Order: sequence, then C-alpha cells, then structure tokens
Amino acid sequence: MDIDSPHPEESDEILKENVWRDGPYLVLRRKKTQLPDRCILCNAPAEGKRLSFRVRDPHAILEQANVKVGLCPYHRSREVWAQLRGWILMLAGLGMLALADLLRTNGIPYLETFAACVGVLLIIAGGVYRRVRPKLLTAKRIERQFVWLENIHPDYLAEFRDVAIEFES
Ligand SMILES: [Zn+2]
Repeated sequence: MDIDSPHPEESDEILKENVWRDGPYLVLRRKKTQLPDRCILCNAPAEGKRLSFRVRDPHAILEQANVKVGLCPYHRSREVWAQLRGWILMLAGLGMLALADLLRTNGIPYLETFAACVGVLLIIAGGVYRRVRPKLLTAKRIERQFVWLENIHPDYLAEFRDVAIEFES
C-alpha cells in the first residue's frame, strides 16, 4: 500500500498516516514526511527549525536514509558544532599542506616535511572523526519505505499511536 501524496501538506491527517511509534521507536515514511515542530530529543519547541540527518541501518551499512527532524536550539547547536569540528580539522590540515608548499618554495625542507605530515594527519583525523563521532540521532532499522528512529524523547513519542500495542490487542 502506498499512500504517499504527490503534494504533501503539513496537516495532522498526513502526520498520522506517515508517522507512528513502534514501542520505543519512531517509525516514519522515508519520503516527504513532516515531523512536529518540537525537538525529537527533548520535546522542547523547535521554533520552526529543522535539521537533516543521514541515518544508517546498523545491520545493512549500505542502507541509508535522510530524515528532517525538529531540534531545539541546544540540540541544534550541539549537532552543528559536532559536524563543524570534523570540517575544521580537515581545513586546518589543508592549511598545513599550503604552508608546507610555501616552505618548500622558500627552501626550508625539514619544516616543509613536518608541516606536510601534520597536514595529512589533521585531514585523516577530521575524516575519522566525521565517521565515528557519536550521533545524536540513529536508526534501529531501515526498509525501502520506512525508517525506525531511536533515542526519541518519550513525551515526543507519546503523541503518536503505538502500532506495537495495536498489533498485540
Ligand atoms: Zn532538544
């Protein structure tokens, strides 16, 4: 059954058709799903701001989904800084490589080698950090149409119907 609307509106009806809970997980359609204007991590007002996350299926590395969720100012700045940190390390690495080039043209070979090594290490560190940093939002499972998100605040979850309970009763 596919009830994706070609022109989704942010109405309660569409919200209920596209989002529900499955025990401790929030289940949503991967495409065109609008979430409430609240922080998915602490349920505080999101003030109209959304942040995109790429989540991966822990059991199928190639399975990824992009989700757009509301975050409060605190969680938003935490996530943005966490993303920036990796880029800053990599940019600093590029800066060191540029410095190494400058040192070479000025005939300072030992410092040039040192700067180049530090530059390469910074770029690697930035790349590794971007891969392994703890994620604020993770997926429990991803399927063709749906994604199961974890670490959702209980008050946020409480607003959605629980399919786990409906299937049991
Ligand atoms: Zn929050």
